[in-house]
Amino acid sequence: MASPRVMSGIRVTGPLHIGNYWGAFRNWLSLQKDYECYFGVMDWHGMTTAYRKSEEIAPWTREMYAEILAWGLDPEKNTVFVQSQVHEHIELFMIFANLTPMGWLERVTTWKDAEEEAKQNDTHNLGRFAYPVLQSADIAIYRGEKVPVGQDQVAHLEISREIIRRFNNVYKAKLPEPQALLTNVPSLPGLDGRKMSKSYGNTLLLTEPDEKTLRKKVNMMLTDPQRARRENPGNPEICPVYSYHKLYSSAEDVEWAATGCRTAGIGCGDCKGRLAQNIENLTKEPREQKKALLADSKKLQGLMDVGNEKARKEARKTLEIVRSCMKW
Ligand code: SF4
Repeated sequence: MASPRVMSGIRVTGPLHIGNYWGAFRNWLSLQKDYECYFGVMDWHGMTTAYRKSEEIAPWTREMYAEILAWGLDPEKNTVFVQSQVHEHIELFMIFANLTPMGWLERVTTWKDAEEEAKQNDTHNLGRFAYPVLQSADIAIYRGEKVPVGQDQVAHLEISREIIRRFNNVYKAKLPEPQALLTNVPSLPGLDGRKMSKSYGNTLLLTEPDEKTLRKKVNMMLTDPQRARRENPGNPEICPVYSYHKLYSSAEDVEWAATGCRTAGIGCGDCKGRLAQNIENLTKEPREQKKALLADSKKLQGLMDVGNEKARKEARKTLEIVRSCMKW
């Protein structure tokens, strides 16, 4: 029996940071073993907020594509595409836009939460407002059956299910209503202990340009403020460095950091140094592979072309089904 089809995408907003990795991309690497997967580099979604920096979208897209392959996403086993290069996404978006009541979008909590910020930074626009409609088209265009999401995103998927259900009801169609594939998303603070966000400038990139930059950023990290001196015991549970150890370090190193912190057996410099080394061990090879891929633009373009064409083929099939149901 064929495995269910998974669809997932990452919005293009600049280089991937470790929040993207632990929140979404790491799951892709395991899902590819068990499912038929469509993975998208979502540049249209990036454009909704970065439309004034449109010249940055193409280099960011290439970088993200190179990065996800460098980390082990298999472009032969999966379909890895660039959203804007598969025009069928937008065609299905328009079809869905016509049958999506405005009220559904007005009720989306992420929109309500982001509205003030959107007004302030000039992104209070139709594209951003209609984001869930495009997201529904992104899934349905590949007849996606499973969408990996964290528990806090299940509600976001619900509107896609409603839009697709409405299409099916109106046109007597049978597009799959996507199911959530629940994934574990660890909470990860930014370098300064606040929520990780590009706008706070507190992110660690998935692959920093080099080891020196990585160490510099880890050294800047906030620690337990009560541990002002080396001889003061600390509380690792409130320290972002320790949160990162739990993700990047071996069980022995996590224990070493926790005990050393509580007993003042280690200093914060030692603790950060060990963390930086563990991150470096994990990221060194993908960083080099990403660089090599970006340096060979012909090879990278070739891989993107093949992925986009594979995606288009499936997307065209869906549109044929859609138009036939619509008798259009
Ligand atoms: S020793 Fe490590 S866990 Fe403890 S406060 Fe310093 S950096 Fe944080």
